[in-house]
Amino acid sequence: MTHEPAAPAPAAPRPRTVDDGSNFRHPLYQVLLDTPGLTVGTAAVDDLLTWGLTNAMWIFPMATSCCGIEFMATMASRVDIDRMGSFVRPTPRQADVMVVAGTITTKMAPRVLKLWEQMPEPKWCVAMGSCAISGDFYRNLYSVVPGIDTFLPVDVYIPGCPPNPEALMHGMLRLQEKIRGQRHGKDFAPKPDAALLKITQPSIPRLVEANRPADLSAAQERASDQPTVDEATPALVVAPEDAPEVAPLVANDFEGLLKEVGVTELPKDGPPLVPAAHHLELARRLKALGYRQLVTIAATHWLAGRGRKGAVADEVEHFEIAFVVRTVGAGSRTAAWAVRVLPGQPLLTLSGVYAGADWQEREQFDLVGVKFAGHPDLRRIMQAESATSFPLRRDHPADAPCAPWR
Ligand code: SF4
Repeated sequence: MTHEPAAPAPAAPRPRTVDDGSNFRHPLYQVLLDTPGLTVGTAAVDDLLTWGLTNAMWIFPMATSCCGIEFMATMASRVDIDRMGSFVRPTPRQADVMVVAGTITTKMAPRVLKLWEQMPEPKWCVAMGSCAISGDFYRNLYSVVPGIDTFLPVDVYIPGCPPNPEALMHGMLRLQEKIRGQRHGKDFAPKPDAALLKITQPSIPRLVEANRPADLSAAQERASDQPTVDEATPALVVAPEDAPEVAPLVANDFEGLLKEVGVTELPKDGPPLVPAAHHLELARRLKALGYRQLVTIAATHWLAGRGRKGAVADEVEHFEIAFVVRTVGAGSRTAAWAVRVLPGQPLLTLSGVYAGADWQEREQFDLVGVKFAGHPDLRRIMQAESATSFPLRRDHPADAPCAPWR
């Protein structure tokens, strides 16, 4: 009877997001350790390798907002972080330290996680500024991650809004201390502090917290591999077949065009309301008259009983979408109008008239939920693909969750 050798047990999957560099041992160290007679020298060699490691920390810059300006100043001559061997390497593949300097949104978080995963080990992470640490002013906002340690293992926190370049330098020195300590077996695991636990906690548990659900990191990993278009909420295509037939407009000025579409008096409480049926034709005619620049498209959501005139008892829920265009050059003239639509009622897109309407209409769809019939690519633009609501509607809760990031 023959015995087949037992198949080796499959290796347990490595938790990808908790690698913090503390387990790293230089391969040369092991060679020395295994060589007879050289064990005496290994301690000194380890010190030498640690010295090299801590004085050549290349930084991957994850600078997103105002803290990023202080981050940039740290590289300049006054602070000159190069003197400790650190410089910015704008690729994750050759970087040792990711410095997250600025606010991270739920749309950005999967990209940040993916860049972190592309950094080779050993690697470290620095949270620079209160936005990176906790979300700061924006922590309860629908779109902001309440601290990057809800998805990245942070080694050093640098407080401030913003921390100045000297503070970042100090943070890097503390990181050096931490690495040296880790190489000598010192424990840097965070200790629960009763006083700290009383302050506002993030809406999802941090990586180091015991109550963090085991599947949350996996969900965040999956989210970072998602295509930019969420399969669950495919692009909203609203066919323009029902576009009403309207007579071409012929007036040669904006006031004349307004009269043609039935607006005889300019309102004092906002741009004139143009019937939705004439909206596209009005834009076409204005463009032909030299209004070549689309300045803005901005939608407002009004709940039932409210409108631009204030409280109106019999008013129904509706949207008002304002459009502003202008002529280009000296003596520029501006034309503004608004269109009123009901929830679910699409408005014809202007993207075929003004190229800039493409992104601006996507923004109004993403944030307010207005649908534009005939738009070539109507999908979310500011929010994460997994978002399911419209945050600039008046009934939207400001601190709405956005799985798996907040
Ligand atoms: S912490 Fe302050 S300075 Fe830094 S990104 Fe946030 S708001 Fe800007």
